[in-house]
Amino acid sequence: MKYYVGIDIGGTKIAYGLFDEKRNLLQKKQTASDDKKEAEEFFSPVIDMIHEFMQEAEKQGGSVEGIGIGITGFVDFEKGALTRTASLPKLNNFPVVDYLKSRLNQDVRIAMDNDCHCGALAEYRHGVGKGRKNMLYCPVSTGISTGMILDGRLFRGSNGASGESGHMIAAVPEEIRMDCSCGNAGCFNSLCSGKAIINYVRKWIEQGESSILPELAGGMENITARHLNEAYEKGDAVARRAVEQMAHYLAIWIFDVYMLLNVDCIVFSGGLLAMGDKLFGQLEKEFEQYHTNGFPVHFYKTQLGSDSGLIGAVELLFE
Ligand SMILES: [Zn+2]
Repeated sequence: MKYYVGIDIGGTKIAYGLFDEKRNLLQKKQTASDDKKEAEEFFSPVIDMIHEFMQEAEKQGGSVEGIGIGITGFVDFEKGALTRTASLPKLNNFPVVDYLKSRLNQDVRIAMDNDCHCGALAEYRHGVGKGRKNMLYCPVSTGISTGMILDGRLFRGSNGASGESGHMIAAVPEEIRMDCSCGNAGCFNSLCSGKAIINYVRKWIEQGESSILPELAGGMENITARHLNEAYEKGDAVARRAVEQMAHYLAIWIFDVYMLLNVDCIVFSGGLLAMGDKLFGQLEKEFEQYHTNGFPVHFYKTQLGSDSGLIGAVELLFE
């Protein structure tokens, strides 16, 4: 029996999955992701976990045939190296795949790509994108981005850095323009990502707007999207303004991406999905106002949820 390991490396946690040869997810595990660790130390628990899964596979009379890795940042898919990652800067330029191969000392295939690319592959092959020709996978989370399946294939771009739609620059009034970690100000990530919405809320409260949010969260620094959701329900003016602004710029963002690619299947994922209609209902309503070409466009929620990263990582081995 053949087994596969999927690994999803994010800024705060690393998720692991063991898959059978039909690519069913059998087991899941998790360790912390520590941005302060140097690369070799960072990958030490990853190697331990792979060994654990290898032993598990052997116990079942099989072996691990391949390891797929999704990671936050720019990935050179051919070389299996991480080019640049904002969340885990100590891993910049680290040859992840070669390093793991040398440490595992076994003839096992390893493939790695950006986490949004992995999510797109997963949703395309096993989720709502199944059977379609084109699909956009759009996480709305700490950041926003777009994994693109075009003519049945994942589009990676010239440097593996495709889909960074969150850093497209929007024409925004000076008073709401904010800096982004990409080095520009006024990109969509600085306007309508999960991180941005919290930045605006804090700014408005600091400027004197009254809100129940600091009390609800137990301090300004603790405010999260969950509190925003709750404050919105209670009619809090700052929370309402923040969600409306976010929905407005998300609508422009997704409409621009749609106009460029004419893809009729748009799949949202990410933590902000919990905001439901407050955010996505508004987004779709505004999208329809701009959408004058009359071609059908369908919006969906992820079917695979938070497992999409693991599932897509393993899919890298089957391209
Ligand atoms: Zn940016």
